[in-house]
Amino acid sequence: MSAASADERDLIQGLAREFSRREIQPLAAACDREARFPLELAPRLRELGLVNLTVPVAQGGLGLGAEELALVTEEFGWACAGITGALGINAIVADVFHCAGSPQQKSEVFGRLLAGQWGAYALTEPGAGSDVGAIATRARRTGKGYVLDGSKLWISNAPLADFFVLFAKTDPAAGRRGISAFLLQRDLPGLRVGPALGKLGQRAAPASEVFLDQVEVPAERLIGEEGQGFLIAMQVFDRSRPMVAALALGLATRALDEAVAYARQRHSMGRPIIEHQAIGHKLADMAVRVEASRLLVRQAARSLDQGRPNTLQAASAKLFAADSAMFCATEAIQVFGGMGYSTDLPLEKLFRDAKVLQIYEGTSEIQRNIIARELARR
Ligand SMILES: Cc1cc2nc3c(=O)[nH]c(=O)nc-3n(C[C@H](O)[C@H](O)[C@H](O)COP(=O)(O)OP(=O)(O)OC[C@H]3O[C@@H](n4cnc5c(N)ncnc54)[C@H](O)[C@@H]3O)c2cc1C
Repeated sequence: MSAASADERDLIQGLAREFSRREIQPLAAACDREARFPLELAPRLRELGLVNLTVPVAQGGLGLGAEELALVTEEFGWACAGITGALGINAIVADVFHCAGSPQQKSEVFGRLLAGQWGAYALTEPGAGSDVGAIATRARRTGKGYVLDGSKLWISNAPLADFFVLFAKTDPAAGRRGISAFLLQRDLPGLRVGPALGKLGQRAAPASEVFLDQVEVPAERLIGEEGQGFLIAMQVFDRSRPMVAALALGLATRALDEAVAYARQRHSMGRPIIEHQAIGHKLADMAVRVEASRLLVRQAARSLDQGRPNTLQAASAKLFAADSAMFCATEAIQVFGGMGYSTDLPLEKLFRDAKVLQIYEGTSEIQRNIIARELARR
């Protein structure tokens, strides 16, 4: 449940907006070019309370809710989707422990996040992305715990991570019900993080493969119970998808802001291009999508804070906001004409950054499947 009042929420959003414009935006282009996450921002973000928002008060955090996290994510997403995406991974890691952590695990993990450590969330594999039940990483029971073998692909923040939440099959014969989640230290013998992968967009968020070769894990590193991994992953998606939608909303808003400013000052045929109906209608379509995304994000986040089921809302927000971010970034380039294609302006970065919003945390096709399934259940 969100503990913030409307006034406090405005304050948090204002602080996030200022930080986004003053501190993130100036770094965005260089971090994208260099494929570098700006670690130098981390201490100030912690000092201002703009990260680890949802860590409970009992664990030394701010105990804020999904609505507040969505506002901060939207504001940061306006300035750089890559930097915001990387910051969002720690929130996803925290979600795992909100959903299924033991008291000892919560105290350890929330403490580590507040101290500035980085976590990563390792579900996807070379042979299993949308089909979570098909993961092949194996966790075999031993006398003292488990031995893990396998590999993970596209793990955001793995190059920075101090620890991982990692999913593996404890009972391959049981399909989805045979998946379990583990908390792993980065420095465990047999655990290796591959080099950062080359990416089209969100290049400030490093991602890599993770390899496990006979990695020994004590039994207390199991998160929840054996066989609960799939359920944990689905619960986490309901929490993380509204935040991906919020990030998409920030990006779409930026595309709209840039396009409106340009269309007002660029002239053709004796008038500002915003007065050409073709351009005005593009801006109108973008603006409506931005506002509709905002409402969907708010609805999905609010339900989460109120403890109500939000699977349908989370999938709808993620689908619509991600597709709208791609739409708005594409249309913004068109409004800019040739200059939209230039690497000297932020438009092409918005376009590259938007694409993966339709892919990670469940593709747009998978969101449609979920929405259809939820409708069929009614
Ligand atoms: C930059 C980046 C960062 C990522 N970060 C992480 C991370 O931190 N942790 C993590 O675990 N994963 C991460 N991922 C992985 C991401 O979640 C997966 O790539 C995504 O879920 C899609 O899985 P896939 O790539 O295996 O595609 P596939 O599942 O092989 O899908 C290929 C195509 O088929 C479609 N498709 C598949 N199944 C169906 C179906 N049943 N119905 C309709 N269409 C279907 C898909 O929509 C897609 O268009 C990241 C990926 C990227 C690119």
